[in-house]
Amino acid sequence: MKVAVLQKPLTVTIEERLVPHPGPHDVLVKVMAVGVCGSDVHYYEHGRIGARKVEKPLVQGHECAGIVVAIGSEVTRFQLGDRVAVEPGITCGKCQWCKEGRYNLCPHVAFLSSPPVDGAFAEYICHPEDLLFPIPDHLSFECATLIEPLSVGIHAVKRAGLQPGSSVLIMGMGPVGLTAIIAAKAYGARQIIVSDVEPFRLGLAEKLGATATIQAGEKNVVEEVSRLTQNLGVDMVIDTSGNARAIDSGVEAAKRGGKLVLIGFPAEDRVPVNLTLMLQREIDLYSTYRYTNTYPLGVELMASSENDVSVLLTDQYPLVQTGAALERARTNKSGSMKVIVYPHL
Ligand SMILES: [Zn+2]
Ligand SMILES: [Zn+2]
Repeated sequence: MKVAVLQKPLTVTIEERLVPHPGPHDVLVKVMAVGVCGSDVHYYEHGRIGARKVEKPLVQGHECAGIVVAIGSEVTRFQLGDRVAVEPGITCGKCQWCKEGRYNLCPHVAFLSSPPVDGAFAEYICHPEDLLFPIPDHLSFECATLIEPLSVGIHAVKRAGLQPGSSVLIMGMGPVGLTAIIAAKAYGARQIIVSDVEPFRLGLAEKLGATATIQAGEKNVVEEVSRLTQNLGVDMVIDTSGNARAIDSGVEAAKRGGKLVLIGFPAEDRVPVNLTLMLQREIDLYSTYRYTNTYPLGVELMASSENDVSVLLTDQYPLVQTGAALERARTNKSGSMKVIVYPHL
C-alpha cells in the first residue's frame, strides 16, 4: 500500500509498505478520507510541537474515516463493509487516568500521527475496534473526519459545564472553533458570539449557527461582546486561537463569575493574563486537552441535517499529493479551511 511520509520539515515522500495485519481486537480500515489538521501542518513546517519532536520519518494524519475491510478473530462489533469514523488515540486502559475515564491524559497513549506513532495518510490502517464508530450512509467520509476537531469542542463545553441558555464567545474560527459552534449549540447555548480576523471564516461561522460575529483587528472584541450582552459579558469564553492577546481579552469578555476555557496552544509557553481581574470577577479557568467519549455524540451531530459542515471542506488532494495538501494548508490560511486527502482517489 501507499503511505505519505514526512521525511524532514517541508519534505513528504510516497512509500510502498505492507498492508498491516489486524490483531485479534483490531480492524483493518480502508482509509477513505483524512483531514489535514493544524498540528499536521505544524509538524510539517517546524518538525516539532513544543518538546514533541519528529525524530524519524513519520506518517501524519489523524482525522480519518473509512471502510472495514478485515477484522481480527475477536472482533464482535463490525462486519466487512461497515463505514466508520476513527478515534485516533489508543490508550492503555490500565493507568490511573484511563481508569478514571480521563483517558485523554493517559501517559501511554499512542495517538495517530503524534510522533513516533504513524498516522493515517495511508491506504489502510489497523485500529482497535473499540475506537471505531459506525457512521450512517448519508454522512460522507470527509464530513466524518470532522468529528475529530468537533470532539475537541464537545469535550471543552462538557468539561466546563456549559449550561442551556448560556451566552458563549468562541475566539478563533479554524476548524476547531467552527465545529465548537456545533458543540455549543448541542449543549444549549442561546447566544454564540464568535471572533476571528478573517471575514471568510466569520462567514462560515454564520452558516454553522453563530448568532453574532466580530472581526478582530477591525473591532474591539471586548467592547463588542459588552454591547451584545447588555454590558454583562458572556457566561463562557472559549479560546481556540492560542493567541496571547485573545486569551487575555477573554478574561475581560467573561461575565463576573463566568468561565474561561482554553483549547488553543499559545506560540510561547508563558502567556500574561490579567489575574487581578480574574480574581475580582471570580472567573473559572479550564484548560482542555483532546477529548474523552465524544465520538458517539460527534457522529450524531455530524449526521444531523442541522449541521452542514461540508462548507468547511475547501480543498481535495489524492494521497500521492499529500505534500501539496500540507503546503496548501500551510500557505493559504485565509482562503482554505479544511484540506482533505483521499488515499483511494
Ligand atoms: Zn486534529
Ligand atoms: Zn492509560
